[in-house]
Amino acid sequence: MTAWEYAPAPESRDIANLKPSYRIFVDGQFADGTGEPLKTINPATGEVLAEVSTASTADVDRAVRAARRAYDKVWGRMPGTERAKYLFRIARQIAERARELAVLESLDNGKPIRESRDVDVPTASAHFFYHAGWADKLGYAGYGPDPKPLGVAGQVIPWNFPLLMAAWKIAPALACGNTVVLKPAETTPLTALVLAEICQQAELPPGVVNILPGAGDVGAAVVAHPDVNKVAFTGSTEVGKQIQAALAGSGKKLTLELGGKAANIVFEDAALDQAVEGIVNGIFFNQGHVCCAGSRLLASESIVDELLVKLHDRISTLRVGDPLDKNTDVGAINSAEQLAKIKSLVAAGEAEGAERWTSPCPLPDKGFFFAPTVFANVSQAMRIAREEIFGPVLSVLTFRTPDEAVAKANNTPYGLSAGVWTEKGSRILAITQRLRAGVVWANTFNRFDPAAPFGGYQESGFGREGGRAGLEAYLDV
Ligand code: NDP
Repeated sequence: MTAWEYAPAPESRDIANLKPSYRIFVDGQFADGTGEPLKTINPATGEVLAEVSTASTADVDRAVRAARRAYDKVWGRMPGTERAKYLFRIARQIAERARELAVLESLDNGKPIRESRDVDVPTASAHFFYHAGWADKLGYAGYGPDPKPLGVAGQVIPWNFPLLMAAWKIAPALACGNTVVLKPAETTPLTALVLAEICQQAELPPGVVNILPGAGDVGAAVVAHPDVNKVAFTGSTEVGKQIQAALAGSGKKLTLELGGKAANIVFEDAALDQAVEGIVNGIFFNQGHVCCAGSRLLASESIVDELLVKLHDRISTLRVGDPLDKNTDVGAINSAEQLAKIKSLVAAGEAEGAERWTSPCPLPDKGFFFAPTVFANVSQAMRIAREEIFGPVLSVLTFRTPDEAVAKANNTPYGLSAGVWTEKGSRILAITQRLRAGVVWANTFNRFDPAAPFGGYQESGFGREGGRAGLEAYLDV
């Protein structure tokens, strides 16, 4: 068989408009933060991209005070019709600067340009468009005739979808009349700071949005600030628990979007080739750095062998490498720490006796990369079946009956998402109702829409983001 090679198709990094240094954004202005500056790197090469100034506790206080002033004097009292105009402007600016944002995101995060260009950036813009539509219709959202905002929202986001998570947090907060202090992740601060520039361009009143790069201590200072009324966090279950404990009794409203270990259930009557695409998208999209990733494949015992052959064939065609190449399917792991975590869990899978298969794809010589990997013969007790790997690693378990599939799918402390693959509509309805997961996809996976609420059960957190349900988190109801 002749192997056809793709010619390189790199997107130009000049489009990112990368600057040598970036600053914190407080009260409508970029300023030198008084924290220790950090260097953000390109995980695909290890090169330093830019120096970023970070916030100190004093900067956090200044940002919360600016957000409070903006809330009291301008934003909290502005009619929804007026707030909507700013949100529409931000949505349009994101769309206009989509290419720049996509390249910058891929440089800072390591995700393939295909994803940042086709998923992250358009969905971020869509969140602002969608919530702009709600700003003057909150009285019809089912939370009373005139629901009020909460005040200042302290928001902390992770590194896996840096711009998209910022949009998920900021758009509903602003639509409901709150002001925001947001801390992006230490390894991926750049697109949030371009979003700050976009807020300036949209002439958003000073203080309505404040962006404070920094490490976990800055996040802790934001959520603990006594003048913050609402906290929204996306990240690890461990830090989510710490935040919940720290906030207990404070009266602050809290939503947590944490980890997951989703089951993707494939019945014997499923369209297998279609399921293979969904399984691949479910676990290798964004290098598996996805809280709702379909990391546990539950396959009917009668088709598991055929499914594994198809999966290996398909996964062998995934191209791992330069995130800026338009042909790349799987990009770089976001950090050396995350790569070490993936390697240690994969080693645990091997030590516990699971059968490892790794794609024979070539890997770049530098940067942080991990080849797509599938473990077969996984049992429920193994760490790779229980812990969030947050990498391109799939664990395959089997079942014989629908009841067994449901029991295994629900046998997890998490409960963020799940998938069901079957040709029978009645089976979809019967199974999805029994799955304890916030989002259940049927014959598809990893589909996102601003109108669809997203959130978890149990250790995956509480509260919903997106849709009408997501507004509740930012209203005094
Ligand atoms: P964290 O939960 O540590 O990070 C999420 C955000 O919280 C980051 O902005 C982080 O800052 C900040 N943060 C860290 N400590 C605190 C604190 N005490 N108070 C307030 N904010 C804090 O996740 P990691 O990046 O360390 O990733 C570890 C693991 O978590 C991953 O391997 C993965 O399994 C899981 N994870 C899950 C995510 C999800 O979407 N469910 C997203 C990211 C990770 P900083 O960036 O400086 O650490």
